[in-house]
Amino acid sequence: MSDKSFDLIVIGAGPGGYVAAIRAAQLGLNVACVEKRGSLGGTCLNVGCIPSKALLHSSELYDKARHGLGDHGVKVEKTTLDLDAMMAQKTKVVGDLTEGIEFLFKKNRVTYLRGAAGIAKAGEVTVTAEGAGGDGAGKGGTETYKAANILIATGSETVALPGIEVDEQAIVSSTGALSLAEVPGHLVVIGGGYIGLELGSVWARLGSKVTVVEFLDTILATMDGELARHMGRILAKQGMEFRLSTKVTAANRTADGVSLALEPAEGGAAETLACDIVLVAVGRRPVTEGLGLEEAGVALDNAGRVTVDSRYLTNVDGIYAIGDVIAGPMLAHKAEDEGVVVAEIIAGQSGHVNYAAIPGVVYTWPEAASVGKTEEELKADGVDYKIGKFPFTANSRGRVNAETDGFVKILADAGDDRILGAHIIGAHAGNMIAELVLAMEFGASAEDVARTTHAHPTVSEAVKEAALAVAGRPIHI
Ligand code: FAD
Ligand code: NAD
Repeated sequence: MSDKSFDLIVIGAGPGGYVAAIRAAQLGLNVACVEKRGSLGGTCLNVGCIPSKALLHSSELYDKARHGLGDHGVKVEKTTLDLDAMMAQKTKVVGDLTEGIEFLFKKNRVTYLRGAAGIAKAGEVTVTAEGAGGDGAGKGGTETYKAANILIATGSETVALPGIEVDEQAIVSSTGALSLAEVPGHLVVIGGGYIGLELGSVWARLGSKVTVVEFLDTILATMDGELARHMGRILAKQGMEFRLSTKVTAANRTADGVSLALEPAEGGAAETLACDIVLVAVGRRPVTEGLGLEEAGVALDNAGRVTVDSRYLTNVDGIYAIGDVIAGPMLAHKAEDEGVVVAEIIAGQSGHVNYAAIPGVVYTWPEAASVGKTEEELKADGVDYKIGKFPFTANSRGRVNAETDGFVKILADAGDDRILGAHIIGAHAGNMIAELVLAMEFGASAEDVARTTHAHPTVSEAVKEAALAVAGRPIHI
């Protein structure tokens, strides 16, 4: 076995790539994983899921200490913010988790090659070290490796807005917004999607005035409309301002911040909006540049994503792709599950990802969590469906916790009662949705969930009640 020749070389060590590498090694393949950022874990661990959730959790504690404990008889005399300590906690969590993956690579004998990978041709990968040296190419040099199989797991990057230059100082992407040196007086977020609402919430809780400018007439456009509207109302009550159906046409640095030009989405009179920091959060696009995909003949679709078949194989034999760089929701757990399946396929086994049951969670307060079809999608598909809804105001544990905002909504087939979609807005929605994902995975009916015993008193009883409500017989409302 040569140290320059592998059964599989994975390009990119995000949740897709590192999970695929570990699973393939578990199955006995000789695997290398190339990563250029200097640490493992990809966008998610370094500048995505993990640091954003660290700040969301810490800022929620700060907010609770300031506003949320009085009803429970807990008096906090003076709450102050130590932003440096909050950032240090975030940095430590990220460091621990990324180092944890290095440990997992060693444990599973995955070779970690530090540097930027390119596909010379099918079966051959080049690795150019970017100063770091490492197990692979020497400092600054390029090494060539042989690979029976190559997996592209290069992920995604922030989409830029034409004419608005992200400097990561005053005009930031999510990466800059995760490391601001001080709490901005006024933060304008362009884009009312996952990142805009999560990072907008962090800074709003820490004291910023936050204005969200969204091109469409709704925030969270891909989620169930009723849930998105409810979220908008709750966040507005928390002080977030929304400028819907509005576009930003220019952003200029001024002596004390940024001046934005806004226009109605349909066009019309322009206005200016001054702020301290602008967060551009209008989506992400696949990373395919500099990999040599064109030379290798790997086809992309119209959106610039690598095209794959149901086995994650590109149009070139021996080259596979998964995660944010291919079609589908740009979510870490989707990338991870594809990573497991592609490793099993390369190792001669079979597997599949059920794209009808991939949950999406927005980690604001309250959280929003969805799986399956939205009501809008069912209507558009002409499906005959039933709705069961149950509010947290009628859930005893919600009352105990003083967390009564939100509801559970289950959509089931009007004919056979099969669950087609579920949408939860509530303090613990992200954890609660797992039950309904599993139900959908097993093809459960609303009646199945309704007849399952749920512990009392838990917020999960709201799921059972919503399932009962599908049949028109909830008990507690
Ligand atoms: P990535 O994680 O993007 O990893 C790709 C890796 O490939 C990168 O490390 C990159 O450096 C490397 N790479 C690229 N090109 C090369 C090359 N030529 N050579 C070597 N290495 C290369 N998703 C969730 O499910 N839950 C969340 O809470 C969540 N929060 C998020 C918060 C933010 C602020 C952001 C930006 C994203 C968030 N996401 C979340 C999305 C999630 O991060 C992505 O869906 C996920 O990281 C995709 O995994 P991936 O493995 O496909 O790619
Ligand atoms: P997004 O697609 O979630 O939201 C982007 C928003 O920007 C949309 O509402 C869109 O209508 C709006 N928009 C687009 N162009 C605009 C313009 N010119 N002016 C104003 N608004 C505009 O994208 P995101 O928030 O950047 O996040 C990127 C992806 O990262 C997400 O789609 C998601 O897949 C992933 N992510 C997931 C999580 C999570 O799972 N909790 C958290 C963060 C990010």
